[in-house]
Amino acid sequence: MTQATARSVFVTGGNRGIGLAVARRFAAAGDRVTVTHRGDGPPPSEGLLAVRCDVTDSGQIDQAFKEAETAHGPVSVLVANAGAAQDRLLVRMTEEDFTSVVDTNLTGAFRVAQRAVRGMLRAGHGRIVLISSTAALRGAPGQTNYAAAKAGLVGFARSLTQELGPRDITCNVVAPGLTETDMSRALTAEQRRALLRTTPAGRLGTPEEVAEAVAFLADAGYVRGAVIPVDGGAGLGH
Ligand code: NDP
Repeated sequence: MTQATARSVFVTGGNRGIGLAVARRFAAAGDRVTVTHRGDGPPPSEGLLAVRCDVTDSGQIDQAFKEAETAHGPVSVLVANAGAAQDRLLVRMTEEDFTSVVDTNLTGAFRVAQRAVRGMLRAGHGRIVLISSTAALRGAPGQTNYAAAKAGLVGFARSLTQELGPRDITCNVVAPGLTETDMSRALTAEQRRALLRTTPAGRLGTPEEVAEAVAFLADAGYVRGAVIPVDGGAGLGH
């Protein structure tokens, strides 16, 4: 399906995994899509604008937005997808394990959302989607850092929703369950089995299934401050 008007879409961590599936979904709908990456960019044949950006660095974020704005116009859809885990039981977790995961997953989303909202306020329109996790509301052993950061996104989205009030700018959260990407491939077979035991669907999700929920939120105007689970039932509606 092609949009009547192509939107300028910005996806952090859009070079692989869920971010790449999201970027492809928007590009297939006719949008102009910028993806950020730190190492390898997305496959060159994808037709995506690839810009280097580490979400822990505000200067790099500003530069990446400038490149996106120059090529595609003001960003009207932001998908804050970049994320990383550093799993360890609390008793073994270092402060660096904790703060670095929060810095990427939560403070990184704050940085990109703040940069995007300025332009959205000028344009009077915008859609922000934050990629959280089932772990945000269920928690998970070894993930006190990651779950806290992902839960923080929910409070962030709901607070921003109230700040934005009646403007046509929305902020919502997508909470994937275990999804087939490099991140889930890093789990041991036993960890995967344990997670699947609490997933009624009995299988991992696909990045494309997460991308469908993101695309829905980018179209919706009256869905605000919501958390949409795409988790095969693992979060039982939370
Ligand atoms: P991947 O590990 O496949 O990809 C992670 C992406 O985030 C990469 O593009 C990576 O960029 C980027 N990234 C990591 N750290 C930074 C940083 N500091 N600055 C900029 N980019 C960064 O993970 P997924 O695709 O699985 O994860 C995407 C999102 O979905 C994450 O937020 C994750 O927490 C969330 N999620 C994933 C689940 C899963 O089971 N896969 C389940 C629930 C949530 P680079 O290539 O440069 O490293």
